Amino acid sequence: MNQRWRIFLQGTVQGVGFRPHVFRLAQRLRLGGWIRNETGGVCLEVQGPPARLQTFLERLQTEAPPLARIRRLQIHPLPLGAEQDFRILPSPREGSDPVPLLPPDVALCPDCLAEIQDPDDRRHQYPFTHCTQCGPRFSVVEALPYDRERTTYRWFPLCPACQQEYHNPLDRRFEAQAIACPQCGPQLEWWDEGGAVRLQGLEALQQAVRCLQQGRVVALKGMGGYQILVDATSEAAVHTLRQRKGRGGKPFAVMFPSLEALLQWTVPSPREVSLLQGPESPIVLLRKRRRLPRGIPPLAEAVAPDNPWVGSMLPYTPLHHLLLQRVARPLVCTSGNRSEEVLCYREEDVRRRLVSLVDGVLNHNRPIARHMDDSVVRVVEGRPLLLRRARGYVPRPVPLSRALPPVLAVGGDLKNTVAVTQGAWAVLSQHIGDLATLATWEAFQTVIRDWLRFFRVTPRALASDLHPGYLTTQWAQEEAQRLGIPWVPVQHHHAHIVACMAEHHLEAEVLGVAWDGTGFGPDGTLWGGEFLLSRLDGFQRMAHLEPLPLLGGEQAIREPRRVALALLILLGKDPPSSLGFSSKEIQYFQRLLQKGPVSWASSIGRLFDGIAALLGIRLRNTFEGEAPQALEALAQEGGKAPPYPHPVEGEAPPWRLPWGPLVEALLQDQRQGRPLSWIASRLHTTLAMWIGAVARRVRVRQVVLSGGAFQNKLLLTRTLQVLRGQGFQVFWPHQVPPNDGGLSLGQAVVAGVWLEAGRAPDA
Ligand code: ZN
Ligand code: ZN
Ligand code: FE
Repeated sequence: MNQRWRIFLQGTVQGVGFRPHVFRLAQRLRLGGWIRNETGGVCLEVQGPPARLQTFLERLQTEAPPLARIRRLQIHPLPLGAEQDFRILPSPREGSDPVPLLPPDVALCPDCLAEIQDPDDRRHQYPFTHCTQCGPRFSVVEALPYDRERTTYRWFPLCPACQQEYHNPLDRRFEAQAIACPQCGPQLEWWDEGGAVRLQGLEALQQAVRCLQQGRVVALKGMGGYQILVDATSEAAVHTLRQRKGRGGKPFAVMFPSLEALLQWTVPSPREVSLLQGPESPIVLLRKRRRLPRGIPPLAEAVAPDNPWVGSMLPYTPLHHLLLQRVARPLVCTSGNRSEEVLCYREEDVRRRLVSLVDGVLNHNRPIARHMDDSVVRVVEGRPLLLRRARGYVPRPVPLSRALPPVLAVGGDLKNTVAVTQGAWAVLSQHIGDLATLATWEAFQTVIRDWLRFFRVTPRALASDLHPGYLTTQWAQEEAQRLGIPWVPVQHHHAHIVACMAEHHLEAEVLGVAWDGTGFGPDGTLWGGEFLLSRLDGFQRMAHLEPLPLLGGEQAIREPRRVALALLILLGKDPPSSLGFSSKEIQYFQRLLQKGPVSWASSIGRLFDGIAALLGIRLRNTFEGEAPQALEALAQEGGKAPPYPHPVEGEAPPWRLPWGPLVEALLQDQRQGRPLSWIASRLHTTLAMWIGAVARRVRVRQVVLSGGAFQNKLLLTRTLQVLRGQGFQVFWPHQVPPNDGGLSLGQAVVAGVWLEAGRAPDA
């Protein structure tokens, strides 16, 4: 006796070859029915004998295409229908379902790579060759459901040959929205340094190759935006790029022509290789090889000055492959923008902001729907730790432990991202950047409009940081008032911890260790070395680093030597001349410390800064996190080293972690001429043990680590060791960055929980 089932699947099931998979399966099992994309997922009906339906259901999941992620599957029995065959139906135009689970952009697949390298293939050397298993997705989608006419490929009607592939369920390109060929698809063009279009097609490619080989700076239109490329083995070329971009010492990423090439300059672990070659293909921080094979030119020192790591990636579009194969050397590959501005992705941005920085542009005529930077990850314990989350990861939602009211959260002013909640999902935006420039501020507003429209969210509250000086806070406050909905300010470090709690579905109280640069505390001082007993809806400050003074406020963030000076003055020590202060300046700062005004911050980031300056490693920061990164790099070389003193003081919470004994002991090591790497390693051990000591006092079994300081892999792994050794269960962020790029998720969840409990302040 036949049965008929309706099956509804949610997850990443659109744009990944799911319907052809189901089609082929149904054909093989001789089942009737249909399948179609709907806004919230994929809907299908099948009928046939129960045993074969069972097999169908199993293989539907076990043999799903590699990029598919089934998150939810519902089955309803139905009365029998008439059809014998199985069909793929067009998708209905509008749906009412919540979060659509569209896949992120996907790196070029091996099949398509083989095609562009095959002289007999009609896509030989075609830079826009893709299929159901690869290619742009989110960066070309303009609306849902995901169909070609709602992507930026709508400008390229398919030729008869492509049509045939597109409509054939047995073809690798069946209903692949982002397909094209040399006859019907996008084409390359070369712009000269003035922005005039000079060459087309492969000639344009050749021109870019020549320029790069001559050490010139070339912009390239990539998948989700423009990139700037330059020969990574040429000191002069990389130096020119640094000057033009207005970039201090912040490392550049490098794209290697192939895995074989990458292995000549770096030493990745197997897990790092699989990430580099995977569908996300992010920039991965890899250790530079110390001794290069004979005849291999070193990477220019200016790529990542004084840095044992280099952000590395492999070509992830056909265009990258074609270009890198020809240039045959590693290329610096950095975001197409001025320092810290938002990524350029439209031609008008390029003309306004990019053309003046480069010697030519390898452009093409397929529009990009939204900007999408390259993601940046480090691998810790075999899992990616996201430093920047965009291409390959966005818009993959974060599943929450339960449904929350719809909320928009606007993040912080640095490394900005925004987030929405929709049902039991939270969707974090791509990395936007530092909101200090007009271009980035406009992008912030564009992304918000995009997110609300795309995910069909009508927010019932607006969440932001607590910092009254943040542009994002002011915007959220005004916008909430305009919309007549509550504004929910969320404390910075609480947001860091809740983001990680949400990801791990933690609802009970945890000890949150939130360590970063600085964030605004409810007491009006700056925080950044915090131990918060945290719930989703609130926290209690249990302990914190003893505050240290920021001489000159913001100026102290750029100049670690000012922190060092303050530490020395407070410890009653004479500052060495190596810090570069005149005796007049020292007297001035001494008076300032006695009489004020000075702002104080309980910030681990600033402690790292101060120590780096004391040790003479970095007196000034040219980019955020420079001094801590230098200390981490040194500490790697220092081996296992015992801690410095790390007392926890105070009768009742909040306990204080005084930095005095640590700094005194460290200075003694320095006087005794101990190697810097040894000192740096001791510092890392000390901080990990400090966390252990506080955790023992608080005695909550689950500990959450977040905040920018945990981008430091050595600090993170040592802390994990200490805490696990003491029997704690430790969580750290896997799906969202520990830095301020993850704030919006925490804010959204806090606000959602408040709304749900009816506790949000009235508008
Ligand atoms: Zn492909
Ligand atoms: Zn075609
Ligand atoms: Fe932070």
